[in-house]
Amino acid sequence: MALVDYHVHTPLCGHAHGEPAAYVEHAIAVGLSEIGFSDHAPLPAGMREGITMLPEETERYIAMIERVRDEHRGRIPVRLGFEVDYPLHDTFDRRYLDDPRIDYLIGSCHFVDGWAFDHPDGVAEYNRRDVDEVYAAYYDTLIELANEGRFHIVGHFDLVKKFGHRATRDHHDRIRRVLMALARCGTAVEISTAGLRKPVGEIYPAPDIVALLFEMNVPVTLGSDAHAPEEVGYEFARARELIRGAGYRRIARFEKRVRRDVPI
Ligand code: ZN
Ligand code: FE
Ligand code: FE
Ligand code: ZN
Repeated sequence: MALVDYHVHTPLCGHAHGEPAAYVEHAIAVGLSEIGFSDHAPLPAGMREGITMLPEETERYIAMIERVRDEHRGRIPVRLGFEVDYPLHDTFDRRYLDDPRIDYLIGSCHFVDGWAFDHPDGVAEYNRRDVDEVYAAYYDTLIELANEGRFHIVGHFDLVKKFGHRATRDHHDRIRRVLMALARCGTAVEISTAGLRKPVGEIYPAPDIVALLFEMNVPVTLGSDAHAPEEVGYEFARARELIRGAGYRRIARFEKRVRRDVPI
């Protein structure tokens, strides 16, 4: 049984703590077979404060992860990734999208027309907006992200539910369009246990979407979105139960951008 945690941060983003080595040690302690770092790729000034590394820190991050990988060689594979905001920003140099050192890119949407809808400081904005329009705009962005075909994994698929704001209309037409594009490109969806630590109190994505993923032949992988070492592998037994219940017997792993599905 392979358990991989591909969504792990570092203190470079400004809101995570613990050295990368401590995250790796925790992954070993809880019996994971693989860990991958995917810290927030640099956003422009005015958006990134306390959220992402600086553009000039990108190489430092890569060197840091390569070092921790070397230090743990023979004990656990350590992958190098980024969590990249979509729409893309010039602060994350486009050459990184094809950089052979990087094992995988997680594409994530954290902004709906400039509003950081998953940031605790902006929650009140949900009350000023039509929640269904927020959901629609969010999934429209995911449709574009999926069609872009540059990412290996989609992060926290239904993040828009984070604070418990529920859609009143059905958004499955848009969701199906996202999944169609992902299935076509072989892009995986992250089963993220981070939602269990948030007000919504459930895994991203919800069970009905996980069922649709299986039906539409979209690969899945696992992520905790750890911002502290002890969050690595958080509640993975529940994530495994969820995807096995939907029919999955394999999860995706990535090495140098090549996907290989392994038994779970
Ligand atoms: Zn973060
Ligand atoms: Fe994120
Ligand atoms: Fe993250
Ligand atoms: Zn995240």
